[in-house]
Amino acid sequence: MRKKIVAGNWKMNMTPSQAVALCETLKPAVANSDAEVVFCVPAIDIVPVVKACEGTEIKVGAENLYFEDKGAFTGEISADMILDAGATYVIIGHSERRGYFGETDADVNKKAKKALEKGLNPIICCGESLEQREQGITFDWIRMQVKLMFEGFAAEDVAKCVVAYEPIWAIGTGKTATTEQAEEVCKAIRDCIREVYGNDTAEKVRIQYGGSVNAANAAELFSQPDIDGGLVGGASLKPDFGVITHA
Ligand code: PEP
Repeated sequence: MRKKIVAGNWKMNMTPSQAVALCETLKPAVANSDAEVVFCVPAIDIVPVVKACEGTEIKVGAENLYFEDKGAFTGEISADMILDAGATYVIIGHSERRGYFGETDADVNKKAKKALEKGLNPIICCGESLEQREQGITFDWIRMQVKLMFEGFAAEDVAKCVVAYEPIWAIGTGKTATTEQAEEVCKAIRDCIREVYGNDTAEKVRIQYGGSVNAANAAELFSQPDIDGGLVGGASLKPDFGVITHA
């Protein structure tokens, strides 16, 4: 049985003091969820959010890392920094990082490897654009992204990862994929992992759906056999997130 995982992606929102105030609002709302609850927050918010969430079940994550250990990489943060700050998860390859900051599949692969090497749990994103969906190449595209994100991984490492299926056209647009669309791609991701790494790994890996998840649609999406929770942007900044974590 896979434990559901519901992660909030705060993106570039919340100053440190706002972040602490948001934690105080969200803590009672997300308490006693059967799912693993993760707040993925801006780097500067990790330390105060970890402190604010002490004594709760909430896990904290970063939104990115760099694949080198340390050195002259101005503006980047390392896996060791994230861990020492008290976070245990990290989002890798979000479509906003791929789209605005030029992250490639090779970068995503290196970042995921580094996260695992250091003991951080990666949430690795994939997803097609509207154009790709309309061209009918969604499944080919997603299978390629999944194979590239895990290139060179041992099966037991794949099993430790969370894959987030996030159709780009559904992120921050209020346009959610239908339950059928979300499930069929999440199933395709699991099938692809099964083909390459075997049934055991495919049954262990957790696959989230992300893209305009809200309090009204979360329960149906998360009840699908291949959807093990969600990666939630906009709604993770609202008390609604509590409803989503209990969906
Ligand atoms: C996201 O940021 O990963 C996301 C899915 O955003 P939203 O829920 O706002 O669409």
